[in-house]
Amino acid sequence: MIHGQNWIAGEWLSGSDETLDANPSDRNDPVGRFALVTPAQARAAVASARQAFPGWAAASPLRRHDVLQRAAQEIAARGEELATLIAREEGKTLADARREVVRTAQIFQFHAGECLRSGGEKIASVRDGVDIDITREPLGVVTVITPWNFPLAIPAWKIAPALAWGNCVVFKPAELVPASAHALAEILQRAGVPPGVFNLVVGRSAQIGAELIESDEVDAISFTGSAKTGRLVAAAASQAYRLKRVQLEMGGKNPLVVLDDASIDIAVSCALDGAFHQTGQRCTASSRVIVTRGIHRRFVHALVEGMKGLVVGHACHDRTHIGPVADARQLEQDLSYIEIGKAEGATLAGGGTRLTRDTDGYFLEPALFIDVHPSMRIAREEIFGPVAAVLAVADYDEALAVANDTEFGLSAGICTASLKHAQHFRRNAQAGMVMVNLPTAGVDHHVPFGGTKGSSHGPREQGTHARDMYTRIKTAYVWGG
Ligand code: ADP
Repeated sequence: MIHGQNWIAGEWLSGSDETLDANPSDRNDPVGRFALVTPAQARAAVASARQAFPGWAAASPLRRHDVLQRAAQEIAARGEELATLIAREEGKTLADARREVVRTAQIFQFHAGECLRSGGEKIASVRDGVDIDITREPLGVVTVITPWNFPLAIPAWKIAPALAWGNCVVFKPAELVPASAHALAEILQRAGVPPGVFNLVVGRSAQIGAELIESDEVDAISFTGSAKTGRLVAAAASQAYRLKRVQLEMGGKNPLVVLDDASIDIAVSCALDGAFHQTGQRCTASSRVIVTRGIHRRFVHALVEGMKGLVVGHACHDRTHIGPVADARQLEQDLSYIEIGKAEGATLAGGGTRLTRDTDGYFLEPALFIDVHPSMRIAREEIFGPVAAVLAVADYDEALAVANDTEFGLSAGICTASLKHAQHFRRNAQAGMVMVNLPTAGVDHHVPFGGTKGSSHGPREQGTHARDMYTRIKTAYVWGG
C-alpha cells in the first residue's frame, strides 16, 4: 500500500483526511491511501505557486528544458512500474497503460523541446524607424484539473506545456487516481522543479474547488472532465474579480460512419477499438456507429462476432482486452443506460451483462444496441462506458446529418473507400478531429487535440498549439531615437 501525501511549496504534507485508492479489478487489492488537502493547504499551494512564478518565468529556456527532459527520461525508464500502477488504479489493460506511459514520456520530451523553440516575430512598423517585436509571456499560476481515464497522459499534456512556457502549476487530479498523480509529482521533484513551481493537491472538489478556481492568484484553469462540471468550472472562474483564461475539454458522443463501400474488416476493427477498448472510457470513444443500409446486416453480424472475441477481465492479466469499469458509480451509470436503451425500444444485439471473475471487480460485457433512433437518450447522452448504439441510415447524406446531430463535437470517423465521401466528411463533420478509416479514439501526442460545439472551449491542447493556452502575447514598439 502506498501512503501518499501532497506536494505543496516544496514539502510533502499530510492532510486532515485520507482517501482510499481502490483497484477496480479487485476490491480486495487497494493501491494506497492518500492524504486529502484542507482548504487552507489548497490556498497555500496557490500562494506558493504565485511566489515562485517570477523566478520560474525568468529561468532560462535551457533550465526548463532540462527539468522536463529529466522527467521524460525517468517516466520512460520506469515504464513497466508506472504502467502497472495505472492498470491497478484505473483499470485499463497493461497494454493500454504501457502505451499511456510511452505517450506521457513523449509529451514531456516534446515540451522540453518547445522550451528551446520559443521565439517571437519581428514585423515592420508603419512608422519610420520603429521596430515591432511580438513575444509570448507566461500567464502566471495555472490550475490543472483532470479526470481519471488517463491518469498520467492528460495531466502531462497540461502540466508539461504550462511549465515549459514559464507558468507555475497547482494540479488537482481526480480522486479516483491519486497514485499516478503522486508518482508524477515525485518525478517532477526529482527532475528539479523548484519549490512552489509545481504543487499536487489531492482533494474533494466540493471542499477545494473554489480555492483553486476563484482565487485572484490563479490566472488560468485547464480542465478535462464532464460537460456538466466544465460549465460549473467556467461559471466559477467568471465569479473572480480578475477574469481567467479557461480551457475546457469535455464530453463526446462521437460518430463512426460506415458506408456501403467500406472494408468490413477495417470498419469492424475501428468500431471494436473505438467503442469498447479502454472499456469505452475515452472522451473520443465511438458511441454512435452510423451505418448505411446496404452494409448494415453484414456489419452488425461481423461486429457482434468480433465482440465475442473480446476478453473482459482483470486489467493486469495478459489475456485481457477490456478491463473493468473504473468504479461502482460508473458501472451503475453504464447499467442504467443499458436499461434505458431497452426501455426506449432499441434492441440489444450483444453483451450488456455484468460479469463475475475470480476477483471482485466491476466487470461489464461490452454492449451493442441496434434499431437505435437518433432521438433516443442512448444516441444523445455521453455514457462513458462500453455501450455503443448502431443507427441505420439510407445514404451518405443522411449519415452526415445524423453524425452532426449532437451537441458534442470532439471526434468523428468515417470508414469508406470513396475519396469523395472521405473528403466531404473531413470538411463537413462538425468535430475538432476527423478520422478516415481509423478509430475515433487514439491520437498523436504532438498535434492539436480538441473539439467544437459542446465538447471544448478555449485553445487547443497538445503540440505547439498548446502555447496558445499557456502564454499571452506582448507587442513591443521600439524606436531607437
Ligand atoms: P468524471 O465524470 O470524469 O469524474 P468530472 O467532471 O466529475 O468528470 O470530474 C473531472 C475533474 O473535475 C475531477 O478532477 C473532479 O474532481 C473535478 N471536479 C468535479 N467537480 C468539480 C467542481 N465543482 N469544481 C472543480 N473541480 C471539480
